[in-house]
Amino acid sequence: MSTIQNVTVAGSGVLGSQIAYQSAYCQKDVTIYDINQAAIDQAKERINGLRALYQRDLNITAEQFAAGLHRLTYTTDLSQAVAHADIVIEAITENPKIKHSFYQQLAQVAPQRTIFASNSSTLTPSMFMADTGRPEKFLNLHFANQVWLNNTAEIMGSPKTDPAIFSEVVAFAGEIGMIPIPLKKEQPGYILNSLLIPFLKSGLGLWTNGVADPHIIDKTWMKATGAPMGPFAILDMIGMRTPYNIIRTTATQENDQVMLAAAARLKTMIDAGQLGAESGQGFYHYPDPAFTQPDFLQTTTQAIPH
Ligand code: NAD
Repeated sequence: MSTIQNVTVAGSGVLGSQIAYQSAYCQKDVTIYDINQAAIDQAKERINGLRALYQRDLNITAEQFAAGLHRLTYTTDLSQAVAHADIVIEAITENPKIKHSFYQQLAQVAPQRTIFASNSSTLTPSMFMADTGRPEKFLNLHFANQVWLNNTAEIMGSPKTDPAIFSEVVAFAGEIGMIPIPLKKEQPGYILNSLLIPFLKSGLGLWTNGVADPHIIDKTWMKATGAPMGPFAILDMIGMRTPYNIIRTTATQENDQVMLAAAARLKTMIDAGQLGAESGQGFYHYPDPAFTQPDFLQTTTQAIPH
């Protein structure tokens, strides 16, 4: 058993709100921190939206869901948010500059005993350990979207992470209903994103290069491999902002013109409010997206240029 009871989740977007509620649902006392009241209000809405999903997927009662809600508190004051934290799980925007600055601020106000864990999809703990002032108590704890269902938690230390802290976080992940996946060494993208990101980029490349439309790309993958979703359905599930940030950053570093063009397409969708499943529209319409319909794999219509 871990000694972690008081959990602070910093950043209450798509993943932060899920991690926070899942921890509270599993009996932890959870404080949610975000930068302003609008973000907090949005988090409350997101978490209320989880009720139907938990009831549908885990068959729980409204009372069981409400018990989790009662273990959540919200604040925009970082000192207050972390005053009693055994662990801070950072789930803020996937942008190194913002994360550096966040850890520097956090290091000044968090108790020395507090463990810091980053949910970053692509950035390693080595990148931020100097900012934290406690490299031995810092590591990554990476969740997958829809944490209550896709319940993997990849745990990845830097070379400086204390093995005892690593074990503590492995135990904590189990206590909040995750299947802990300890990694033996640092790997940008862990196991999941080392596989997933090249896959999503390949799909976006096929679309941006004009080879095929998103639904056709998804159909091909689903029909040929038996997979339940293709790359564009997965992008919708993740939500467009995080893939956009990841792809734009790596494409800029690598001067990859196709991925820069793909990032621009994602940006157009984000600006139009097409954020994926959470906004009801992305590459598919929700709540009943075409890829879940029985006839989806039977049709292959797309405009063919002459
Ligand atoms: P998001 O854009 O939905 O949410 C980011 C949140 O961070 C927002 O609420 C924003 O207000 C807040 N924020 C920004 N700057 C902040 C600061 N300085 N202090 C506190 N809060 C701040 O993003 P997301 O998709 O939830 O991703 C968050 C993190 O989780 C990223 O590191 C991402 O790589 C990781 N992640 C995302 C997914 C996914 O499927 N979306 C999966 C695994 C991991």
